[in-house]
Amino acid sequence: MPKILMVEDEACIIEAVEKTLASAGGFCLVAVKDPDRAVSAAISEKPDLILLDIRLPGSDGRHILKALKENAATRVVPVIFLTGMSGEGDKVIGLNMGADDYVVKPFGAMELMARIHAVLRRVRPHSSLDSVDIGGLKLDAGSRGASFKGKPLRLQPKEFEILFLLASEPGRAHTRGWLIDNTSSYGMPVNTRSLDTHIKNIRRKLGTGACLIETVPKVGYRFVSPHERL
Ligand code: CA
Repeated sequence: MPKILMVEDEACIIEAVEKTLASAGGFCLVAVKDPDRAVSAAISEKPDLILLDIRLPGSDGRHILKALKENAATRVVPVIFLTGMSGEGDKVIGLNMGADDYVVKPFGAMELMARIHAVLRRVRPHSSLDSVDIGGLKLDAGSRGASFKGKPLRLQPKEFEILFLLASEPGRAHTRGWLIDNTSSYGMPVNTRSLDTHIKNIRRKLGTGACLIETVPKVGYRFVSPHERL
């Protein structure tokens, strides 16, 4: 169920959006009135979309948008601006800053839902690839958060990438060459020897989950599908 985070100070607008989403069905809404809590709520709630008011008490929605786009944990979350401003300039600035769309207040329920659906459709193909939740392992590519059976894993960036690649396709064997080619070019390049070291470190950090990564002789590695362990 898509979760929507709304940053809005006006109770009547929150209520209207609550009603709209409730009658549309299939959405979960979290509303935050305090602009200072917007970014922390976006990090903790992990919404699929943010509705962001531009005029907030003591703050400007555009500053919040900037903070959201600068934070690795929230950068990828699409944002729809709620604006009372009719000036074209404000809308253009918002879109240039990375907002996905805007809705001018007062807006109708139909219009709001159409915008939300359009933005979610646009970002969905990627969002499904942004996280992995399998066999007790949780990985979030946006925040780089990793945990196994509820305990955080302290993975180095390359270890995260390698584990993400393997766990995204459980059951499938990946060659060392493919894994090396598909890790990012940041930092130290991965070669066959360092790949094996990364795998060793990932297994050590997974502890009892070490067996989730299987060595496939003469090929490479694969993430064991949970069905196989039953
Ligand atoms: Ca407002």
